[in-house]
Parts: sequence; structure tokens; C-alpha cells
Amino acid sequence: MRTKSHPDKETKVAVIGAGIVGLMTALEIQRTGRQVVVIDPGEPGGRQAASYGNAGWISTSNIMPLSVPGLWRDVIGYLLDKSGPFVIRWAYLPRLLPWLIRFVWAGRNWKKVNDCAKVRFELCRHSAEDHKNVAAEAGVGHLIEQKGQLYIYRDKSQFLAAASGWDMRRRFGIKVTELGKDDLRKLEPNISARYTCGVLLDDGCHCTDVKAYCEAIAELIRKRGGKFIRARATGFQISDGRLRAVKIGEASIECEQAVVTAGIGSKELAAAAGDRVSLESERGYHVMIADGGRTATRPIMPADGKIGITPMRQGLRIAGQIELASFKAAPDWRRADILHQFASRVFEAPFESDKVIDRWMGHRPATPDGLPCIGPTRSCGGLFYGFGHGGSGLAQAPATAKLLAALVAGQRPRLDVSPMSVRRF
Ligand SMILES: Cc1cc2nc3c(=O)[nH]c(=O)nc-3n(C[C@H](O)[C@H](O)[C@H](O)COP(=O)(O)OP(=O)(O)OC[C@H]3O[C@@H](n4cnc5c(N)ncnc54)[C@H](O)[C@@H]3O)c2cc1C
Repeated sequence: MRTKSHPDKETKVAVIGAGIVGLMTALEIQRTGRQVVVIDPGEPGGRQAASYGNAGWISTSNIMPLSVPGLWRDVIGYLLDKSGPFVIRWAYLPRLLPWLIRFVWAGRNWKKVNDCAKVRFELCRHSAEDHKNVAAEAGVGHLIEQKGQLYIYRDKSQFLAAASGWDMRRRFGIKVTELGKDDLRKLEPNISARYTCGVLLDDGCHCTDVKAYCEAIAELIRKRGGKFIRARATGFQISDGRLRAVKIGEASIECEQAVVTAGIGSKELAAAAGDRVSLESERGYHVMIADGGRTATRPIMPADGKIGITPMRQGLRIAGQIELASFKAAPDWRRADILHQFASRVFEAPFESDKVIDRWMGHRPATPDGLPCIGPTRSCGGLFYGFGHGGSGLAQAPATAKLLAALVAGQRPRLDVSPMSVRRF
């Protein structure tokens, strides 16, 4: 095994995790001429990954963190409503408390939110273009559709309650188009008349089959000489302050550098490297129904339900819910039923009786401050982190990948990564 003090193009880089973040990262690292080996016990973008079941929204405007001043008032309301979009399994509360305190603290004033939004903006502003380019390169350009994203409101007061978020987006130069009842109807004729106004974000895209997209990227990586190993990474061999190998149980994979992009699994890996990170699963669900294309033609979010409704290749996907519970706990399929019932009432012709073709639960890997963890580990040279993208990992994956590829190559990344450092925990 060769040991180098400076990363060069012969360096073998292990990428741990084959969700959208790991795959994009492996692809970007390959562009710098390095060899990559991707380690994951599951298939690329398989059911085990959050990337499999998300709503497919590629938002160039997803700048707002979840924690904002006053959020607590809404959360109390949600917690009292058993069919609401947010739930905590109370038995988990003692373990969750440190994360929750950090979460509330992170959004304590609008200055904090604005600072966070600045970084989030940089992570998502080019995501539509970047995804379109990667999808075309992987031969699946048709999987990315640009029809914008539509937020709908029952009435003006509901819209005004969200106005600070839209104002902030405008200040960042994001195009926000307000729509009245007639405009809404023209755009999406099947929406229930109960929704009277909306906002269209023209620049947003969506992916109509994230699993197929992940598979295509994996295939591209293979074609370019990358390897995939079906195994769970369990730790690291570190000596003289440098990474030497990634452990997979009793065996190990020698490498000079490694990137941890293992979604919610990154917490354990960071601990194995000696880093404590504040990362919890915001568990989410989806339901897919065979709607025959008679509902939405573009991604829609009804503000009262906080759910993403996305037309996909196989049918209509209804994704959402934030359930704070251990990532090992069994799914509570009542959460998926809530999504189904709610979405059905968003349209003129309810579809509660339509065939459900898939139900899924997955883990948004969430930090309390709304920023991912991107940068070098504290523990040794050659090991980097790229996880914690919460509910925005599809959108933030291309920018994350470019930042990590630069760090791995020993170059200065185009964005200051210090706000995303593991040191903040
Ligand atoms: C219901 C829902 C809706 C969402 N909607 C959107 C959306 O519309 N737009 C958006 O941008 N984001 C959305 N998200 C968030 C997005 O899905 C995630 O942020 C993103 O998928 C995270 O990608 P990842 O690659 O970091 O993690 P994952 O996709 O979870 O992939 C991690 C991979 O690491 C592997 N792994 C774990 N531990 C190990 C280990 N020890 N060794 C090796 N491999 C390991 C896993 O097997 C997995 O394949 C949504 C999430 C949910 C749950």
C-alpha cells in the first residue's frame, strides 16, 4: 500500500454510501482523475436510502431552514393534531432533547435564519442546471422535468403567514410568481376550488424516478472505471494521523482518502472516526398511487398539509411527514395513510380509493441547524464528511459533490465550508 502526504491523481478514494450525495460525489471525484470505490450494503439509491423515496423536488430556492423564530407556536399545534405533518414519539424524547434544543436555538432570530439561508442558497442555486447536465451525461435526461414548483394556499391569510419566507427568497433574487384563483386553475385545473391562491417557483425541476436516476449515475461511474462494493463500512484504520483503510467488518478496503456520504448512517461512522455529530432522523413517508395522470401535472405543495405531491413515472407520489423517532423504530403506516387522505382532498376528484402501488418510510439525515456537514474530519488526514442534508439532499447533492471533490483534490472549494464544519458540533 502506498502512502502519500499529498493527494494526487493516483489516489484511491473510498466513497461510503451510494445515495444521491455519495453517487454525485463519486462522479465529481472521478472527474479529477482519481479512482473511486463506492461502498454500500444496498443498491445505489435502493429502498434503504432516503434518495429512493423522496418527493423528487430539485428546488433552486430551498433556502429556508426548518427552524425559524416562532416555529414553536406552530409545532405545538401540530403535536396536538394527530393527523398533522409533524409528530414526536414521546418515548424517544429524552434522547432527542439535545438535538431539539439545538434546533430551536438555531432559529432563534432572523439574523441566524438569514445567515443559514445564504449558505443554503449557494448549495441549491445551480441544482436544476447541474442535475440536468448529469442526467443527460448518464443518458437519462428525460428523468428531469422543468415545470416549476407550485405552493398552494386556501386563502390570503394562509399565504400571508408564509410571507416572510417568500420575501426572503425575493431578497436572494429568486423569482417568485404569485398566482390568483384563475391563474391557479389554468396551471392545474384539477386542484380543488378550496385553494384560492398560490406561488409558482419557475426555476424548480423535479425528477420523475429518483431510483432510476441513481442507477444511471452508478452505471456512469462504473463505465469510467469506478468500483462498487456491497458491504457496510464499520470504521477506519488510521495511523500516523492519516487514513489508511475503511473497515468493513473483519476485512478492510485500503485507500488514501475516504468520504462519508452515508446519510443517517453517517452518525455512527463519524463516531467511529472520533467525531460527535448532532444528526437525527426526520423520518418521512411516501405513498404512490396509480392516478392515471388525472391529478397534478407539476410538483405541488398545499401549505396546510406540508406535503409534496409529485407526478412521477410510475404514478403520483405523495411524500411528507416529519416523525421524530429512533431511526431503528418500525414504520407507523398511519403516517402514510394521513398523506394519502390529505392529498386526495387537494383535488376536485378525490382519489382515496385509487390503487396504492407503493408505501415507503425513509430517513432525512437532519442536523439541527439546517446545514449539512461538509468538510474534513477532526481526527485524521484524508477523511471527509458530506452528510446531513435533511429534506434537501437531492437539491444540494451537486454542490456538495463539487465541494467534496475540491477538498479531496486538495484545492480550495468555491464556497467557504467553515459554517458546515463538523467542528460546530
Ligand atoms: C419523505 C421525504 C421526502 C423528501 N423530499 C425531498 C425532495 O423533494 N427534494 C430534496 O432535495 N430532498 C428531499 N428529501 C431529502 C433527501 O431524500 C435526502 O436529503 C437525501 O436523499 C440524502 O441523500 P444521502 O445520499 O445523503 O443519503 P441516503 O439517500 O440515505 O443514502 C445513504 C446511503 O448510505 C448507505 N449507508 C448507510 N450506512 C452505511 C455504512 N455504514 N456503510 C456503507 N453504506 C452505508 C445507505 O445504505 C444508503 O444507501 C426527502 C426525504 C424524505 C424522507
